[in-house]
Amino acid sequence: MILPQFKYHQPATLKDALAVAQSCDGDFDFIAGGTDVLPNYKNRLNNRNNVISLSGVHELQDVSADRIGGMATLVQLENSAVLKSALPVLPAAAHLVATPLLRESATVGGNILLDNRCWFFNQSPLWRESKGFCMKADGDVCLVVPQKEICYATYSGDLAPVFMVLDATLHLAGPESDRDLPVAGFFAHDGITRNVKLPEEILTHIAIPKSAQALRAAYRKLRIRDSMDYPVMGAAVALSFADNTIETLRIAITGMETTPLLYDEVMQPFVGEQVSMDLIETISGAVQEEVNAYRNVHFSPQYRKAMVGVYLKRILTELTTPKNSNN
Ligand SMILES: Cc1cc2nc3c(=O)[nH]c(=O)nc-3n(C[C@H](O)[C@H](O)[C@H](O)COP(=O)(O)OP(=O)(O)OC[C@H]3O[C@@H](n4cnc5c(N)ncnc54)[C@H](O)[C@@H]3O)c2cc1C
Ligand code: SF4
Repeated sequence: MILPQFKYHQPATLKDALAVAQSCDGDFDFIAGGTDVLPNYKNRLNNRNNVISLSGVHELQDVSADRIGGMATLVQLENSAVLKSALPVLPAAAHLVATPLLRESATVGGNILLDNRCWFFNQSPLWRESKGFCMKADGDVCLVVPQKEICYATYSGDLAPVFMVLDATLHLAGPESDRDLPVAGFFAHDGITRNVKLPEEILTHIAIPKSAQALRAAYRKLRIRDSMDYPVMGAAVALSFADNTIETLRIAITGMETTPLLYDEVMQPFVGEQVSMDLIETISGAVQEEVNAYRNVHFSPQYRKAMVGVYLKRILTELTTPKNSNN
């Protein structure tokens, strides 16, 4: 597959990148590492005439314990000594994304903003034409849920659920103004619009509250091949407990629905409860009950839903086991 033609822009500052975007009249994509944009362009999936690279915008690349630049690469996250010590769940989750080579280019911003996935979408033009185009590219129907009016393509990023359970905030810079949004409030239930970011806005960084450093947190994913694949179910948990009583409990799931989802309301009744195997079973079952999945990525929705409970039980058991009794 070869790339289509487009005009390539490489601004050197955030201000210039925003100005170039405004001059393109909506016909552009930002590109960071390109590991999602370029395969999609090769498959002629909604490609634009202008591509604005953010790779020259060095002010977006910082990594610290309370701020991660949108252009930080996943390798930067994986190797960050500061994060390994303050928020080890982030380097561990970054390590589970794609392959080592892809993680050299892939960025945190691109990971949060990657396009939703579907068997009927992530295909060559020839394949899609033979099956009939769908409304996410070139067509006007959904081949997965035909009677509905939105796209059910699955959100398949690994890092968003981790940022959700850490209670992180996204910072967006726009041509007129900047704004902050909680990660949990950023996504939109439609595989085409996907989130509330305006096209011209740039994700500059993610802010993580200091309180996140006091949490125990973990992320695990189900995928076809452990060497490279997207999550077909991913579970992130962050919690704190004292005297065997739950003080904070956050769970987020990815790879199932059109957005990653944080289950704060479902968790509310469990705060203040004593940790036990029964409680872990109940918490895991409560989230499993809530999640939905569609038949548009690998593994059946039923199996992926069942795995939500299985993975959560494993993670919760691990996180509530006192550290000194691991040996
Ligand atoms: C074989 C393969 C396996 C993969 N496996 C996984 C996996 O296991 N888990 C996973 O999560 N992903 C996976 N991916 C997807 C992808 O590699 C990663 O999600 C990666 O982090 C995307 O980052 P990027 O910088 O390459 O994004 P890009 O492709 O450059 O951009 C992705 C999207 O984000 C937008 N964007 C990027 N940065 C910004 C910004 N700062 N502001 C505004 N918009 C921005 C772009 O316009 C585009 O819409 C895989 C990809 C491949 C090819
Ligand atoms: S869920 Fe429907 S509209 Fe969305 S990509 Fe798949 S087939 Fe297309």
